[in-house]
Amino acid sequence: MKCSRCGREAVYFARYEGRYYCHKHFNELVEGKVKRTIRKYRMIKRGERIGVAVSGGKDSVVLLHLLAKLRKKFPFEIVAITIDEGIKGYRDKSVEVAKKNAELLGIEHHIYRFKDYIGFTLDETVEIMGARGERLGACSYCGVWRRWLLNKAAEELKVDKLALGLNLDDEVQVFLMNLMRGDVARLGRTGPYYEVVHEGLVPRIKPLREVPEKEIVLYAVLNNIEVDLSECPYAVEAFRAEIRDWLNEMEEKHPGTKYQLLRSYDKIFPLLAKTYAKEVKLNRCKLCGQPTSGEICKACQFRLQVHERAKLKFSLSDKNGEDHRNSSFHRGA
Ligand code: SF4
Ligand code: ZN
Repeated sequence: MKCSRCGREAVYFARYEGRYYCHKHFNELVEGKVKRTIRKYRMIKRGERIGVAVSGGKDSVVLLHLLAKLRKKFPFEIVAITIDEGIKGYRDKSVEVAKKNAELLGIEHHIYRFKDYIGFTLDETVEIMGARGERLGACSYCGVWRRWLLNKAAEELKVDKLALGLNLDDEVQVFLMNLMRGDVARLGRTGPYYEVVHEGLVPRIKPLREVPEKEIVLYAVLNNIEVDLSECPYAVEAFRAEIRDWLNEMEEKHPGTKYQLLRSYDKIFPLLAKTYAKEVKLNRCKLCGQPTSGEICKACQFRLQVHERAKLKFSLSDKNGEDHRNSSFHRGA
């Protein structure tokens, strides 16, 4: 097949618009979408310092490359931030990939580890709390602590905004999940821009929200960008997987479904944002100083729970005469 723009050999067919793309025009397609998204919501202003959350996975690494390319024409600063949750055999590999890409692009890179800031790696947390945690899965601790640490990193590194590698598929999956859970308030807080920016909460931007996951993978492959494609061993979000499969099936049968859903969300978002932004009043956490709607933030609550549980385990194992000198709890407690 030939590229619909120049007649060269095509490498991609965008079913949602019935067009073929060669390598050059495919790059322009993806880069154009990102540029337009940034412009449309004024995500980045000239001279701003943008923190990019880079896990080493395809989305965040491609985002780093796209922003690095963009800043050649439109000056702004980039700093890459990697959160290392401490997931053996998975995160250690992707942290290396993140590091290599930042080096390649000449971008300042910082790694923030759960172990250093929470006191435990995620693996240790799971070991202490049990596979399902205190009835919570690894993702619950991970998500709360990651958001907390990213915000802390962003503040420490004095970035104006945090760029996240969330793509079109992610946006639409989350939109549907929140709709199906009846969590309309959340829909008013996770859109393309902020109605109210809270002091102490670094604003997050999502420049890839109009790029389908498929195009991100292909962009990485065609441009020889090294990414880590492995999956987290704790990833068991069954509901999300069902939504993802259903969406892919719908997109197959009715090309353009994902874009239509995103457009629908973007149309109702301003109304939801106005309604629900007012409801959120944030205080400072009494323990860590980060913004929270209560007195102690969720990240500190979780951290205390795990410390308590670890202490209990120690005293029990002491009574049973177990030797825990080499236990991983010991290092984290
Ligand atoms: Fe963390 Fe869960 Fe994501 Fe793994 S799948 S990185 S545990 S949130
Ligand atoms: Zn706190």
